[in-house]
Amino acid sequence: MTDHAPAYAAVAAGCRRLAAQGLVIGSAGNVSVRLPGTDDLVVTRSGVAFADCTPDDVVRVGSSGRVLPGTGTPTSEIDLHLGIYADTSAAAVVHTHAPYSTAVACVLDELPVLHYQQMLLGGPVRVAPYATFGTPELAAHVRDALVDRQAALMSNHGSVALGASLDQAIEHALLLEWLAALHHRSSALGTPRVLTAEEQSDVVAQAVRRSYGTQQEKP
Ligand SMILES: [Zn+2]
Repeated sequence: MTDHAPAYAAVAAGCRRLAAQGLVIGSAGNVSVRLPGTDDLVVTRSGVAFADCTPDDVVRVGSSGRVLPGTGTPTSEIDLHLGIYADTSAAAVVHTHAPYSTAVACVLDELPVLHYQQMLLGGPVRVAPYATFGTPELAAHVRDALVDRQAALMSNHGSVALGASLDQAIEHALLLEWLAALHHRSSALGTPRVLTAEEQSDVVAQAVRRSYGTQQEKP
């Protein structure tokens, strides 16, 4: 574990940040990162209180799901994390029951693009069909919903976000929660206008021109 101590510490710090931002109440979520130079990942253990998470609450799991002896029980959503790493080049995965994201996931089949920043997540955010927590069926639904996306919603459950770093995965989870709240507030005022496909592709083209997203420029 010594070589990988920074990864354990980063996951614990990420959990505390998610709790501080109100995305996770109690133990309602899980976080993982790939371990550099290995096929393994480190992930929060089952039932960890995010606000008080320490490196001791983080366990190492092999790509086959094998848990290193004596390290504790990983999150019940371990199949979801393993599946996302198998499908993508993500460096980190964040799953929460964030309030607005979960509310949207109880009603909509897809979160439409109301704001241009949603293009950072790849466009409309799909809501994966419901399945019992911790099951391979749920993991399969969410993997499908994540194709060409940086985040997905989970019907009547919560949200999942990934990123090229743990910080980026957390930023994506925070952005999705803001977008879900935006949808909720806009819908209270009337019928929100949705950006057209052309407007969405114009955003992507403009972002490429301005290298938006890579240099953290926020016009
Ligand atoms: Zn969950």
